[in-house]
Amino acid sequence: MAENWVDERDKAILETIYFCENCNIVLEPGDKEVERHKKELPHHKMRKVFILRCGNCGNIVTDSHAQYSPERNQFWCKNCLFSTSFRQEFYATRQE
Ligand SMILES: [Zn+2]
Ligand SMILES: [Zn+2]
Repeated sequence: MAENWVDERDKAILETIYFCENCNIVLEPGDKEVERHKKELPHHKMRKVFILRCGNCGNIVTDSHAQYSPERNQFWCKNCLFSTSFRQEFYATRQE
């Protein structure tokens, strides 16, 4: 069950990119800048950013614009969760 949970969650993650807060730029994996940051600019503040697909509407969003529900094994974007009825649905999925 626990392994399944991770699998399902990973499926929703389409891509992992980096964001450098010092340069204010997005770095994609394989980008020369990623290596340069590792070697020459280790003091720069890098953040991992996950690109996800919303389990409800299918929109592509970053992790800061989505919420994860372990009950659903899904990420939903904030656009969907902005709606009260979707929000209730999202949080009321515990099956006991
Ligand atoms: Zn930087
Ligand atoms: Zn959505």
